[in-house]
Amino acid sequence: MAILPIVTYNDPLLRKEAERVDELNEELGVLIADMFDTMYNSSGVGLAAPQIGKSIQLFVINADTMTEELEDEEDLGAMVFINPQILTTEGEIVKLEEGCLSIPDVRDEVSRHDRITIRFRNRHFEEKTEEFSGWVSRVIQHEYDHLKGVLFLDHLSSFRRRFHRSALKKIDSGKLETDYPIAPKKGKK
Ligand SMILES: [Zn+2]
Repeated sequence: MAILPIVTYNDPLLRKEAERVDELNEELGVLIADMFDTMYNSSGVGLAAPQIGKSIQLFVINADTMTEELEDEEDLGAMVFINPQILTTEGEIVKLEEGCLSIPDVRDEVSRHDRITIRFRNRHFEEKTEEFSGWVSRVIQHEYDHLKGVLFLDHLSSFRRRFHRSALKKIDSGKLETDYPIAPKKGKK
């Protein structure tokens, strides 16, 4: 069990397409446990492997903590997604505020489809195809984006991105203080 430092905005690691996971082994099991520890430690609802410096197709979520005030949400608990593939995005487009552990102190409204169908391998490496809607669907779409090198900022208008510019600079400079460990920048030239 370990709390891993989180890679932040402008680190090239967050812009890479993550690689597929070939097998579930002991190392991956430990990594998954550490990712849950790291996510809970930083009060996050989801965490993707690139955010802790591993460019592999893996993310974990626990959207339960955010569903209290929302109705008709399933009690899904903690879930692991390995090699996920979103097959369909459907339903109404909903605009809701999002944040990201890699972009501390920046929040903004992001428009996303309400419903997705996703194929993935779970923590036992069993292949599943499931449908999600509401808040959980949003969390999954956010984390899935991380595996493609996409950040929630990319969904904003250029006006809104400019609005966040000084906050982003502060993160990139490494001067921002967070109440969870941040990774030093790697591969930055
Ligand atoms: Zn994020």
